[in-house]
Amino acid sequence: MKRANNSKMPVLFIGHGSPMNVILKNDFTDSLVKLGKELPEPRAILVISAHWLTNGSYVTCNEKPEIIYDFYGFPRELYTIKYPCPGSPSDARSIESLKKVDIKCSTNWGLDHASWAILRHMYPAADIPVFEFSLDYSYNDLSPKPIQYHYDIASELSFLREKGILIIGSGNIVHNLGLIDFRNIYATPYSWAIDFDEEVKSSLLNMDHIKLIDYQKLKGSNLAVPTLDHYLPMIYALALQGEGEPLKFTYEGFQHSSISMRCFQIG
Ligand code: ZN
Repeated sequence: MKRANNSKMPVLFIGHGSPMNVILKNDFTDSLVKLGKELPEPRAILVISAHWLTNGSYVTCNEKPEIIYDFYGFPRELYTIKYPCPGSPSDARSIESLKKVDIKCSTNWGLDHASWAILRHMYPAADIPVFEFSLDYSYNDLSPKPIQYHYDIASELSFLREKGILIIGSGNIVHNLGLIDFRNIYATPYSWAIDFDEEVKSSLLNMDHIKLIDYQKLKGSNLAVPTLDHYLPMIYALALQGEGEPLKFTYEGFQHSSISMRCFQIG
């Protein structure tokens, strides 16, 4: 691992996919191992989690975050995995008072699998402090918070990059559990999944954030994004892209027919 310099830390979006990846070795998990070795060493890691949905925005302030096994019906081995990393309460408190939104400290949540299942591959020693940021899933008059709202919150997190913090949005660009092929992780992807993933890919390469905020107009969106939870972490990563800042894909592919594992690095 390279030593962190004084410039901005990169930002990642990781398509985490099935919890099974934590015990598998495949080209996706290999890409995570490679990232961990190649990125500048972070002082701490902030994960925007697709699996922490709250009424309002929260950040974990635990000294020692508990591992949450937030999935059911998987092999017993998955429920014995530990990731005993420290938390980073002082960094968490530094984002409590963002200007545009009230962020609250939480000690009732730990690390769900959007964090530990990928970090176990990237940083197996579990010696880097990790804290999580929730997604505000509250409704006003039966409408969820607009995507622009999340984009605006995320852009305020930018200062963390200059403090040696690696920000990771952890979700999936295409995520349809209703149409998933559970038995076969390497099943052929659906055509609508490929269509949407390709549309997102070209928008990312063109730095067209507006198109990605307005994702419903993209081909295949109704099946690719049936709920916003796994799409929003990508918006958080995107909002941290500076003017002209380069973006590269660190992994491209699908799992279980209906999950895009596309990952990217900004900076
Ligand atoms: Zn997930």
